[in-house]
Amino acid sequence: MNPASATDRQGVSALGRLAPLGRLAPLGRLAGAVRGAVNFAIDLALPPLCPACREPVIGQALCAVCWAKLHFIAPPYCERLGIPFAYEAGEGLLSMQAITSPPAYARARAAVRYDDVARALVQAFKYGDRFDLAPTLGRWMAAAGRELLAEADGIVPVPLHWRRLWARRFNQSATLASVIAKESGVPVVHDALRRVRATVQQVGLSRTERAANIQGAFRVAAGGKAAISGRRLVLVDDVLTTGATVEGCTRALLRAGAAQVDILIFARVVDTVRSPI
Ligand SMILES: [Zn+2]
Repeated sequence: MNPASATDRQGVSALGRLAPLGRLAPLGRLAGAVRGAVNFAIDLALPPLCPACREPVIGQALCAVCWAKLHFIAPPYCERLGIPFAYEAGEGLLSMQAITSPPAYARARAAVRYDDVARALVQAFKYGDRFDLAPTLGRWMAAAGRELLAEADGIVPVPLHWRRLWARRFNQSATLASVIAKESGVPVVHDALRRVRATVQQVGLSRTERAANIQGAFRVAAGGKAAISGRRLVLVDDVLTTGATVEGCTRALLRAGAAQVDILIFARVVDTVRSPI
């Protein structure tokens, strides 16, 4: 239990309730302080809420109902893109998409499909101060990417531009990468890959616009080349929609001499269930 979950429950932080004390009369100020302290203590004593339906949960990221709605991605899937197939198709099969428009990265894996519950989890973690969700999300990712991590030399988080990092205060991909590193024993390669150009938010852009938006946005810093060159890397991000961001990062890593780049995502959009060719 932590103050962050209390913040999420009430929509205002306990500190936020204490903040307007200066506007109260002295006696009222004392009463207000006591009331604030009591509320703060109550908040700490209550369990966190399920990010998707806001029911209290104890010791779990999600309540049982929302957990059942989450779609974990498991084989059978396209060996290359990790997109699930509708039926058992044998090992090593590729989807039509992997053959007709192969990505720069070697393989992609994701823990869950990006649906309503997954979106709620990501938004609570990213924008709702629910840092307590990171170990759970990271563990699910480490399990989904086990075969990639077994062959990897390093984990690279998708970087934020410094201005967005300053505004958000943390890089969600770097936080997930740290958990995955702990789970797998594969080290995180910090600060080698940089976002050198601020990009506009991808939400609402078409596939072509996203690709143009990302063009030239990522670069491996001169001082980071040694950590990238000749290495097999797993690139980590929270959500995959069109794949423009991870494609841009992969190209930058390969230009800097990476031997191979695989992708590990928490939640990916799966348009339709594709059959192997
Ligand atoms: Zn729930």
